[in-house]
Order: sequence, then structure tokens, then C-alpha cells
Amino acid sequence: MKLPLTYYGNPILRQKAEPVTEITDEIRQFIKDLEETMIEKNGLGISAPQVGSRLAIFIARPPVDDGTGRYSFGPSKVYINPKLTEPSSESWSHEEACLSIPKVYGDVPRPVRITITALDINGKEFTEELTGWPARVVMHENDHLNGVLFIDRISKKQRNQIEPLLRTIKQKYN
Ligand SMILES: [Zn+2]
Repeated sequence: MKLPLTYYGNPILRQKAEPVTEITDEIRQFIKDLEETMIEKNGLGISAPQVGSRLAIFIARPPVDDGTGRYSFGPSKVYINPKLTEPSSESWSHEEACLSIPKVYGDVPRPVRITITALDINGKEFTEELTGWPARVVMHENDHLNGVLFIDRISKKQRNQIEPLLRTIKQKYN
């Protein structure tokens, strides 16, 4: 079942998510719905607060290069109670967007590499070292679990430029 999105201006997008204590059938169903919503909206990822939940869960499906320079969505991966560590000192900037802030784009500098430890859908802990797009997508989604949006990480100049769009979204969707 597709879930309704929350948009910029909704206070839940500024709250800290709460850890999942037990992966129940209800939570498994929620994760299915969350994935369906991400796919329907063409997202590279989605986090629980973006559908009005405070659970520390997100899904990422970073783009993969098919070898000819064309990108398509990679497989979806679920992260429950994620913890990010060891960001590289090297960073890169790229344009980002967000399902909760429609039609707004901005260049976000982020570390090239990050280590993430999380639980999978069966409650089993795993650790991954991610580079490039996969690292960027999990950092964007993990920010949502801390009440942080990509527009908080763009230059002051870009932020000033998009401010009128943000005001419009706030009014239109809330
Ligand atoms: Zn987002």
C-alpha cells in the first residue's frame, strides 16, 4: 500500500527518529509499504519520517552504472537503526533532491566514503563500507532520521535562491 508523503514544513521532518526495538509483522508490512511508496515516487531512497513515522528506518536504492554511462536504480536495501561512522575526509559535491521538497535541487557536499552499521529486515546486524552514490544516498536518508534536510547543507547563496520555493511548498502541502 502506497503511503502519503510528508512535505517540507511538516514538523516530523525536523524530529529525531526513535530506534526500532522489535521487528514485528507490522513493521515488516510498513517497510513493504515504504518501498512501494519510494518506487512509485521514483526515489533513490526514502525514510520513515517522509511518510509520517518516527521509526529509525530507511530504504536506499542508489543508481548503478550499466557500463555505458547510463544509470538505473539499483536494488533496494533496508536499513534499520543505522549508525554511520568513519566518514572520509575527502568529499564531493553533487546535486540532490528530496521527495519531501518537490522540484527543489541543490549541490550538497558529502564525504566520498562512509561506514554504515544497521539491522536488516530479520534483525541481523550488518556493516558496509560505501563509496560514491551509495554513500551519498545513505547519508541523505540517515539525515532524515536526525531531522536534517539536504537544504540545510547547501550554500547560503543557493539556499537564498530556493527560499521562495520553500515557502510555497510549506503553504501548498501543509
Ligand atoms: Zn530526502
